Amino acid sequence: MSRRYQSPFKGNRYIGNTNSNEVHDLDDEKVSCQIDKIKTDHVKTFIPDSHSQAKREGFDNCAHCIGNSKY
Ligand SMILES: [Zn+2]
Repeated sequence: MSRRYQSPFKGNRYIGNTNSNEVHDLDDEKVSCQIDKIKTDHVKTFIPDSHSQAKREGFDNCAHCIGNSKY
């Protein structure tokens, strides 16, 4: 489990799921993140590719790979 270099992930570390509104850290990805189940249309990358940017855009932490989830 690690970064994915194909579109739409493009090698980014932080991947948002616009359906669940959660952000994942692919460098610490867990099986329970189910990254490959996220529909392509729901994959969000961040510019810059940082956790703080994901938070600025209103994403909640994934409880599995980042922790401290609000929900
Ligand atoms: Zn996760």
